[in-house]
Amino acid sequence: MTLLEVRDLEVTYPGGAAAVRGVDLSLGAGQKLGIAGESGCGKSTLALALLRLLPAGARVGGRIVLDGDDVLTMRWGRLRAVRWAGASIVFQGAMHSLNPVHRIGEQIAEPILLHDRASAATARRRAGELLERVGLPAARASAYPHELSGGQRQRVMIAMALACAPRLIIADEPTTALDVMVQAQILRLIEQLVGEQNLGLIMISHDLAVLADTCDRLAVMYAGRVVELGPARAVYEDARHPYAQALSAAFPRIGDPSSRFAPRGLPGDPPDPAELPSGCVFHPRCPVSLPGCTTTDQTLRTAEEDRWAACVHVGAPEEERTGPPPKTAGNTPWT
Ligand code: ADP
Ligand code: MG
Repeated sequence: MTLLEVRDLEVTYPGGAAAVRGVDLSLGAGQKLGIAGESGCGKSTLALALLRLLPAGARVGGRIVLDGDDVLTMRWGRLRAVRWAGASIVFQGAMHSLNPVHRIGEQIAEPILLHDRASAATARRRAGELLERVGLPAARASAYPHELSGGQRQRVMIAMALACAPRLIIADEPTTALDVMVQAQILRLIEQLVGEQNLGLIMISHDLAVLADTCDRLAVMYAGRVVELGPARAVYEDARHPYAQALSAAFPRIGDPSSRFAPRGLPGDPPDPAELPSGCVFHPRCPVSLPGCTTTDQTLRTAEEDRWAACVHVGAPEEERTGPPPKTAGNTPWT
């Protein structure tokens, strides 16, 4: 059964920046979807839109159906319930999301009190249980956020996200601010928790390798669009869109010394959403662009079964392919 269905999602910030442009996604119960892309590609905007958490003034179009409910049209009371029990978000900076003057146990208990109308004693007990589930002693409930390490605070954020037993967890760069060792622990914890309860997971990261490890499917975003979509390992190991190829090549592969010693990047930056290039938005940075790419926009095309990419070189009729085909991942022309 479909847990989340996103159709033609558009988000425009005040001032005209089109941060998300026509995104389609769907996620089954218990499925894990990774969303990758450089900073500024619209990943967080997409995540916030899913629960209507965007700042006032942002315009949202399209359709978001979570567990059969239309998120964009539902009433406020229903939305509040959905934000805890339907889906919850783990943000990147736990220090900014936790209240510094309240004990962490109280902060975990708060949604349980509000949403489940539990007694104070029940909420306290559940908060302790949640702390233990994320690998902290229940007695840490009396600690204040500043008394915890970054990794421990991120564990508290995960406990809060689990408090009302949601069906979907959205993790927006949950480990980006952490040390490498702690990063791996937190990723394993998220994997374990979503696996145990068959939760849906949307994991956002700029690190394709992390996503390929954790997720079933992978969507690569560029300038507000999904430019590649498919099974996670296949996208990571054999990307079809030149942007996804560059992103994949930028991260070292375990066991591949050549990629470790020669990290490859991509020149330039993603475009400002208020000033998008004409045609295919990736063409100014694309090593395999054709003359037509400056005028013809690209949306997802079928590359093969269960794989899509928004590139003229992908799945196009033979007569359209007048230039060189894109190189495969690991053999990217950016050096
Ligand atoms: P990502 O999470 O992939 O780094 P974001 O969703 O944060 O990307 O940002 C996408 C684009 O939207 C960026 O160009 C960013 O500058 C712009 N943006 C993000 N938040 C706002 C906002 N509140 N107002 C105006 N523009 C914004
Ligand atoms: Mg972000």
